[in-house]
Formats: sequence, C-alpha cells, structure tokens
Amino acid sequence: MSGKLDKSSFSMDVSQKGQGDREDYRSLGNGKHARSQSPLKFFAEAKKSINDVFKDIAEYVTESQNYLSALPENCKCENAKSVEEFGNMIQGIIEVLTRDHMKVVFFGRTSNGKSTTINAMLRNKIMPSGIGHTTHCFIQVEGCESSEGFLLTEDSDQQKSISDIKQLASALSKVKLKENSLIRILWPKQKCKFLREDVVFLDSPGIDVTPDLDDWIDKHCLDADVFVLVANAESTLMQTEKNFFHKVSSRLSKPNIFILQNRWDISVGEDDPEEVEQVKEQHYQRNVEFLADQLKVVDRQEAKNRIFFVSAKETLISRLHEDNKTPTPHGSLQRNYQERAFAFANFEQAFEVCISKSAVRTKFEQHSQRGRNITSSLRSVMDETHKKSQQQGDKLQEVKSEKESELDFLEKQTLVLTTEMKDKIKAMVEEVERKVSYAMNMEINRLAVLVEDFDRPFHPDEMVLRVYKKELHAFVEDTIGKNLQSRCSYEMQSTVEKTQRQMADRLSALLPDETKQHLDSVLPKNQFEIAYRLDCRNLCADFQEDIQFRFSFGITALMERFLGRKGVKTVLTGKGNTIPRPIPGQSQDNQILVGVITTFASVSSRTTMGAVIIGGMVAKVTGWRIIAVVGALYGLMYLYERMTWTNKAKERSFKRQYVDYVASKLKLIVDLTSANCSHQVQQELSGTFARLCNQVDISKQGLEDEIRSLDNEISRLQDISSKGKTLRNKADFLDKTLDGFIKKFLGPKDS
Ligand code: GDP
Repeated sequence: MSGKLDKSSFSMDVSQKGQGDREDYRSLGNGKHARSQSPLKFFAEAKKSINDVFKDIAEYVTESQNYLSALPENCKCENAKSVEEFGNMIQGIIEVLTRDHMKVVFFGRTSNGKSTTINAMLRNKIMPSGIGHTTHCFIQVEGCESSEGFLLTEDSDQQKSISDIKQLASALSKVKLKENSLIRILWPKQKCKFLREDVVFLDSPGIDVTPDLDDWIDKHCLDADVFVLVANAESTLMQTEKNFFHKVSSRLSKPNIFILQNRWDISVGEDDPEEVEQVKEQHYQRNVEFLADQLKVVDRQEAKNRIFFVSAKETLISRLHEDNKTPTPHGSLQRNYQERAFAFANFEQAFEVCISKSAVRTKFEQHSQRGRNITSSLRSVMDETHKKSQQQGDKLQEVKSEKESELDFLEKQTLVLTTEMKDKIKAMVEEVERKVSYAMNMEINRLAVLVEDFDRPFHPDEMVLRVYKKELHAFVEDTIGKNLQSRCSYEMQSTVEKTQRQMADRLSALLPDETKQHLDSVLPKNQFEIAYRLDCRNLCADFQEDIQFRFSFGITALMERFLGRKGVKTVLTGKGNTIPRPIPGQSQDNQILVGVITTFASVSSRTTMGAVIIGGMVAKVTGWRIIAVVGALYGLMYLYERMTWTNKAKERSFKRQYVDYVASKLKLIVDLTSANCSHQVQQELSGTFARLCNQVDISKQGLEDEIRSLDNEISRLQDISSKGKTLRNKADFLDKTLDGFIKKFLGPKDS
C-alpha cells in the first residue's frame, strides 16, 4: 500500500465533500434513506416516530385497561391480568425514550488529543485541554435548552460554572471527586449541531492513567453507540488501549469503533515524505488488523473507513476562527492542512451515519420489540374477549328466541282457549237458563200442593191474617228456593266446578312449572251456590184475599160464574149497558144464558118492584106451592152453605186464591230468574277464567320482562364485542405502525 492510494482516498473524500457538503450521508439501514440532511436527523426522526407510536400505545393500553376492568365476569379471559402491568411498562419505555440520546465515548492515552477532538467537533473550547492537564474523571458534554452552559457533578444537583471544570476535573485538584465519577457539562444546544441532535460526548481519563477498565465499561460504556479511539500518530497502539476494546467487544456485540490517528500535522515537519507515507500505511495496516482481525467488529474493507489521519488541533483552530470570522494566525496551520481538515470532516460524516444508525438500533430496537410484544398480547386478549362476548351474545340470542317462541305459543294458545271457553260458557249459560226455567215452571205447577203443606193456624181476623200471609210468603219463597236448589243446584255446581277445573288444567299445560302451582289458589275455595232471589213478600205484596161468604146460587155468584167478577161489577154499577162480548172458550149455550141473566139481572137490579112483579108472574104461572118448595130448598141450600163456611173453608178459599195469585206472579219472573241464575253461572265462570288468565298474563309479563332484559344484555355484549374488535384492530394498527417503524429505521440487521 502506498501514499498514492491514501492520496486518492483523500481526493475522493474531498470531491465528495465538495459535491454534497456535510449534509450528504450514505444510505442508512435499509438503504432507502439517502436524503439531503444530516444523518443525525435520522435518529431524531426515529426518536420522534417511536415516541409518537408509544404515546399511541400508552393511550391504547389505558383504553384497553378501562375496557377490561369494566368487563362482566363471563367475558373476561385469563391472560387479561397481564395487561395490568403494561401501563407501567409503557410509561417506563416512554421515559427512557425521552432520555435516549446518541452517545460517543472517546478513549486514548493522556494528551493524545481527546479533549481537543471533542472541542473541534463541538466548534467550541468546552473541554479543558493542554499539556500536563490530566483528569481522573469522566466528562460528559450534552445539550441543554438554556442559553448558558453549566456543570453538574454526581454528588450534587447544584449547577456550577463552566469555569470550574478545570479545577474539578484535574487530577491535581484539591477538590476531590470520586475516582471515575462523572462531571456533566450542559452546553446550549443552539450553539452546536451535534448537541442539538441529541449526541452526547464522553471524555474518559487517559487509558494509561486508570487501569480499572471493567469499572469504566460497566459505568459509562454499556449505552455507548460509538467509541472513538484517539491515537497518537507518533506512536503505535498500546496494549492497554487494545485491552480496553477487547473488553468492550466482549461485553457489547460488535461495538462501533473509529480510530483517529491524531496529531498528523506533526508529520508535515518530516523531511522524507515517503517515510511519512510508510508510517501512515503502517498505522493503517495495524489498525485494520486490530479492528478486523483481532476485534472482528468489521471486515477489512469497512475497517479502512474507520481510520482517519487528522489534526484535531488544526481543525479546532481553523473552525474557531472561521466561526469568529477572524483569520487564522500565521503558522498555526501546517502545510497541506486541508487534507487533514477534510479527513476530520470525513470522520465526522462517517461518525454521524454510524452513530445515528447504531443509536436507532441500540436504543429503539428493543423498545419497538417490546412494544410489539405488548400490542400482540393485547391483540390476543382483545380477540379472545371479542370472541367470548360474541359467543355469550349468541347464547343469549338463542335463549331469547326460545323465550319469544314460548311467548308466541302462550299468546296463541291463550287466544284459542279463550274462544273455546267463551263458547263453553255460553252453552252452559243457555243450559242453566233452560233448566232453571223448567224447574220453576214445575214448581209453579205444584204450587197448590206446596201451599197446602203450609199448616199455620188460619183465622180471618185481619191482624192474624197479616201474620199468616207473611209467614206464607216466607214459606213459599223458602220452599220453592230449596226445591229449585235440589232440582238444579247440585248438577249446576258440579258442572261449574268441572268446567273451572278444566279451565285450570288447560291453562296449566301452557304455563311453566313455577306458575302452575298458583293456578289452584286462583280456583274458588267455596262451593258455587246459585241465589234464586224469588222475594215472594214483595212479589205478592198486592195480594188481596176475598173470603167473604158468597152463596153459590146467589144472583151475584151466578153472574160471577158466567161473567167473572169484573163483568158483575160492570152490570151492577150500570156502567156497561152493552151486551158483554162473548168470552172466548165459553160455549154457545152459556152465552145465551148469560144474555138472559144479564137482562134479568139488569131489570131486577133496577127496581125492586120489578122483582116482585117477576115473582108474581112466576107464581101465576107455576103456582105458589112450587114457589114455596123451591124457596125452601133454596133457603136450605143457603143455610147449608152458610153453616159450612167455616175457617177451614175460608182457609181453603184463601189458599186457592193465593196459589192463583202467586202462580201468576211467579210466571212473570220465570224468565227473569232463569236469566239471573244463568248470569250468576256466567259471572262465576268468567270470573274464574279471568283470574286464571291473569296468571297467564303474569307469565306473559314475566316472559316479556325476560326478553327485554335479554335484549339489553345482548346489546351490552354486542357493544363489548364490537369494542373488543375495535381494540383488536387498533392493536393490529399499532403493530403495523411498529412494523413500519422497524422496516423504516432498523431495516435488516447488519451481518
Ligand atoms: P487529552 O489529554 O487526550 O485530552 O489531550 P488534549 O486534548 O488535552 O491535548 C493535549 C495536548 O496536545 C494539547 O496541548 C493539545 O493542544 C495538543 N494537541 C492535541 N491535538 C493535537 C494535534 O492534532 N496536533 C498537535 N500538534 N497537538 C495537538
């Protein structure tokens, strides 16, 4: 390998620099990210992206936890418990993510120029440097939002002035900090691009000063993304330097290591340029061998891209003057300075690409994987919940359908039964009406016998007669009532009870078991009894007996026999001169006789004289003896009848009249009473049926309530199911977002 090769390498770098400036960077990760911006933006973009995703995941986890905690027991799934800890996990990840940064650690022997290199990169003299200055502390430079920089030490939260750094960090300082402790320099982000993009610089004590490498690594290096070994171009790598990186690569998988061969400006003073190139080549070979063959962190080709011959001092001077817009003092920059400046810029560019890519992977890969684990766990929980609630909903839907058909059956059967029972009640009512009517007629026909059985002492005295009538009314009412009861009631009772039992049995078949038992309690406890309500006293209140003595062959009696009591009255009062109309049913002879007597009576009643004349005329025709005999016979008959008109005869006459009267009155109420009885039967049966149907209504109401509550439960489960589905889809979406993040920022792993 010759100096030419290195020069061409330089010239290539220079031309690249010229074309793309420092904002150009090589493709990252998946090779799709070639764009005109600092490679460091890649980290910032990835950080923002993954922060956004995790904020969404945090919201999603909260939403899921709320959803799961409100689930009914039958929809809960076993692995839902794991979700409880996801909230804290995500919060932890978010906190780590916000703190995440890119970290570069500088190593090398004391005075190799580590601090100068950091200052050159930061374009500020922040780190203390100088010959003789050694530090036993780690000094970290990180960005802050404030406009002024400050210091923080591990032992206190108090902010210290930047000017204290020399005193604090110096190994010779009287202020003793703990060995290997950390001093943090918080430097305004606005002043430095690297700090703005979340790069943190860590300067270590000279590797030749502190031998406890394990402690270093554990404390400061495990989260480092890039290691920069600042070597001295004047000498070869020391074993301590090599040991350190062997330890690092045993703890971290393939650490990113850059080797800066610093102080290359010194080579300008050498007289023999060929010798310089040889030295350079020697450094190359040894460094490549160290990185590729000994550490095996990169291949030989890639190793060449990790070695840079620079002058940190020149770069710092040049940059400070460039930024202050002042000319660099003569002699401060050596010949061919630009080559070393470009080498430094190339180092920075390669460093930017490497650190952003590495930091994205080391910082975010694990988080994105954990995020995916969480979303996939939640997805399966949501999927299970969605399916479980759907199954529960389907089960309830089946129960609801059964209940609906049960209700439908009950309604239809009740309707059929109601029609049937209505017909049955109607038929029964007609039957009762007919039977009561028949029984009453029978009782009316044998009323005379019934009245005859009444054997209270009879006396025509008005007071006694009044009591007699009262008792007779009660007797007739009571006896007819009892007779009717014995004729009809027993049969009707059993028919009514049978029908009621039948109703209950028929309805019982329609009802569920728990309601069936209530039916018997609905049936009437007492026997059904018909009240006939004859009320003879009022019915016969107008009855007026006629128990005056009347001679059977007296003129009035004869007239009554043929004319009836009314006709006689008419004739005797002279109010009807007309010949009475023939009474239907009377014979022709009778009618003629009536005519004669009527005329005769009419004449005789008008004048007593007329009677005497007639008597004389008859006597003249038949003779006085015959008249006397007839008169005697007539008198005897009268006497006989007068003698036999005893209380007994009066009672008989009374009872006869009473029977006629009551029979006529009872005939009038036959229809009414039978209708009343049938109405009672109808009331009894309809009432019982209505009460039985009430039980059906209660059952129907129960079914309707059940269906309504099933409906509510089903729609609640549907809500749960659809929410579960939405959350499952959301988990899918977040998983895809994380997958997109991984593809975009992490890409396939380097071999
Ligand atoms: P550290 O102990 O590794 O941090 O080294 P410093 O950065 O403090 O540098 C030690 C001394 O070397 C300082 O005086 C620097 O000015 C000087 N120095 C650093 N880099 C270079 C360089 O590239 N060329 C030359 N000539 N001197 C340098």
